[in-house]
Amino acid sequence: MEVMELGRISDEVFAYSDLKEDFAYARIPREKRQYYIAAGLAAGRRAARVYRGRDLGTLLCSNGVEIRRFSDPSPSGLHSQICCDGAAKQVDLFRDTARQLSAAMDKTPCPVSPQELERLFLAHEFYHWLEYSSGAGTELQCEPICTKLFGLFPRQVRIRRTGEIAAFAFSKEFCGLPVHPKAIDYVFVYGREGKSFEEICARLAGLEAEYQAECL
Ligand SMILES: [Zn+2]
Repeated sequence: MEVMELGRISDEVFAYSDLKEDFAYARIPREKRQYYIAAGLAAGRRAARVYRGRDLGTLLCSNGVEIRRFSDPSPSGLHSQICCDGAAKQVDLFRDTARQLSAAMDKTPCPVSPQELERLFLAHEFYHWLEYSSGAGTELQCEPICTKLFGLFPRQVRIRRTGEIAAFAFSKEFCGLPVHPKAIDYVFVYGREGKSFEEICARLAGLEAEYQAECL
């Protein structure tokens, strides 16, 4: 099989892989799936244009957010996390995860350095901080789904994974990464399962086909 270029797979495909993790995914009408994908991507890209060239670390620090870098492996394989809990405002970056993802990408035609990955993690969390500090999470900027609780009571459900779609789009665009950040995760996870790059590309082609079948 011909090795597919990782960067060829559209952001929509990876956004779909996030959307289908939403707890309300099954309730999203089929014709609205593209809407949530597009809205999440647009929100992230819009913010990336606003903050282009800015030093995100400095911006966070000047807003009282502490950036903590950990060298020990994260027990759960986390990339990064943000905690805005009352007085404590922290972004944690896990350098060992960046190192492991970089090592996985070294075996592909598109290497990414640990430093670039750390920047990517920071940009992802910066987007979540924007959501938090503005009080308007991405899901609130998107139309809710109207559903009926127990088939009786009208209820609006927000699609929370749009925030994740946007944070990845923001970090990709802000850092000028040629591949989607989730492509890196797939390379890492499948590589750890012993899959070759060709097999990983075949899996991603499968994800692309699934997106086309589910969303187009
Ligand atoms: Zn996130």
